[in-house]
Amino acid sequence: MTFSSARSGTFVERQVLGWLTSLAFPDVPQAGGCFTSGGTQSNFQALLILRNEALRRAGVDVNALGLVEALSRTGHRGMRIFASEASHPSIFAAVRQLGLGDAGLHRVPTDGQDRLCPVALEAALVEARRQGQLPAVVVLTAGSSGVGAVDPLREGMRLAHQHGALVHVDAAHGSLLLFSQRHRGLLDGLQGADTVTLDPHKVLGLNAQLGGLLVRDARLLTLLGKVSLDYFVTSEVSDLGEVTLDGSRALNSLGAWLLLRHFGRDGYGRLVDHLFALARDFTRRLKKSGCFELFPDTPTMNMLAFRLRPKAASETPEELARENARNDALLSRLMQSRKFAVSCYRHASGRLYLRAVFINPASRPEHMAALADALIQLAREAE
Ligand SMILES: *Cc1c(COP(=O)(O)O)cnc(C)c1O
Repeated sequence: MTFSSARSGTFVERQVLGWLTSLAFPDVPQAGGCFTSGGTQSNFQALLILRNEALRRAGVDVNALGLVEALSRTGHRGMRIFASEASHPSIFAAVRQLGLGDAGLHRVPTDGQDRLCPVALEAALVEARRQGQLPAVVVLTAGSSGVGAVDPLREGMRLAHQHGALVHVDAAHGSLLLFSQRHRGLLDGLQGADTVTLDPHKVLGLNAQLGGLLVRDARLLTLLGKVSLDYFVTSEVSDLGEVTLDGSRALNSLGAWLLLRHFGRDGYGRLVDHLFALARDFTRRLKKSGCFELFPDTPTMNMLAFRLRPKAASETPEELARENARNDALLSRLMQSRKFAVSCYRHASGRLYLRAVFINPASRPEHMAALADALIQLAREAE
């Protein structure tokens, strides 16, 4: 939002950004941020400014030289971005859109719970350097969109720093944890990130579209390459339009301002604890039935993936296809009931899971019981 076109809007945005920044970077006075249209755009913008920062640290100005010339002057053959296989697809897309191609992305394997594997990350960083690549950015996910997995943040950051890479954390959904006294420890180390994606439209239960990009050093935001508009009157108030990809945009942060004023941090904290308790309640019910295999065995956040307990112990492509078909059929039957809806999640292994996300503050344990009972009944019929 440009200051000239929305003076009061500028103050609303700044206040909400200030609140969110102090959640993600509580002890970092130079932290800052901007609003975007959502997590997808935040991830793109984060990787764009970090790509530019990585080149700035290597001594070149990509906004002046362009990517090809800038890279060649650093003496590197290319640059690489590292992200786990369980990252949100918008990360993979951003690497392409930044002109680095799929070849510029290293998809790091995950452990049995969809968390980035640090040993594999270290090997990938070493390998990139050996190949003459500039290790630019390590992307860590805090709350994967599949199952809410949180990558090992401290270890991932330590490895990134050791190899001279910057760090982006995609906490579009997982930043929900920051509100909860009980659960925020899961995001320990987040403060060490250079950039963080936080989606107020997910985390605050707000209508789309309000995404957030928070940065540990507000100066990073100016690497966007924006060219200032000469038809606006300049003012002494710094202009949030200078650090966003868009120009004119709606004052979506007003909804966030109202909700944060209404619920407060503690109110959201109680909400998060409630949603997490629902996920655990639901998990307990599925587990007790013995009909399902859960992924992971205990939910990290307010979501759970699960599939029918497989009939075969082996996982040949044929068996996998058969198991997936059983789960697909279960999903269709549940949807036909028109009473319940769950989504699904295809794991990197090809396994199809059903996926339940608990996000409605009005949900209660009896709703968990009803959903679990419906699933268990369908599972028994499918035997
Ligand atoms: C939802 C999500 C995104 C994308 O956010 P949009 O607001 O839908 O663009 C990115 N990353 C993660 C981890 C998400 O959960």
